[in-house]
Amino acid sequence: MINIQQLYKTYRTGNIETKVLRGIDLHIADGEFIAIMGRSGAGKSTLLYQISLLDEPTSGTITIDNKETSTLSNQDRIDMRLTTMGYIFQDYALIPELTAVENVMLPLIMQGQTKQAAYEKSVESLSEVGLKDKVDNLPSQLSGGEQQRVSVSRAIAHHPKILFADEPTANLDAESAKTVLDLLSQLHKERGQTTVMITHEEEYAKYTERIVRLSEGIISEDERLKK
Ligand code: ADP
Repeated sequence: MINIQQLYKTYRTGNIETKVLRGIDLHIADGEFIAIMGRSGAGKSTLLYQISLLDEPTSGTITIDNKETSTLSNQDRIDMRLTTMGYIFQDYALIPELTAVENVMLPLIMQGQTKQAAYEKSVESLSEVGLKDKVDNLPSQLSGGEQQRVSVSRAIAHHPKILFADEPTANLDAESAKTVLDLLSQLHKERGQTTVMITHEEEYAKYTERIVRLSEGIISEDERLKK
């Protein structure tokens, strides 16, 4: 599903160069649930941004769903992000002025779905994460755990082939974190989408099938977990 070869990413700010990714080779099979770990600053988010097409690497190739992504036009990249991928961020990234259901509807409408179809899919998706009774709440009227479940619901409403989660539990207490991780595991089991999650908690990485560790911009360890 995702094939990364010799991926390099260097940030340039003024005269300062930061070499963050220094030759990453990684193959993620269709349907795999994988954790990316490493100390703060190791390049985990940078790697996720390249794979999820939110940024472009300095060099190297990323093939997703059999498409070499550097050959895609800007519009093709946007389309691939909208249709093939779902995103969950640590700060939820919900729009505060929109209700839960409106937040979930937004990417569906951007994909060209009608308001009615988007509404129905969004209510269904919110029901799947246990928030049927809170569809009309604003983010400020939801707990952190509930806001993250809205964000999970938004990420899965269009049934993406790949789900990306960047430290989805970083701002949650232990109980809400467990709820979100149980939800991700359950969705993975039921729908089988490829899931790539960044975490720095060993305990949370154990929810996945494989742990890839980043260090000094390369993969220092790649471990498959027995289930
Ligand atoms: P992690 O997610 O593992 O904590 P990041 O990928 O966020 O690490 O960051 C890796 C390194 O790249 C850090 O040193 C960070 O300061 C630097 N960095 C990240 N984004 C940028 C950027 N847009 N411009 C310059 N440097 C950046």
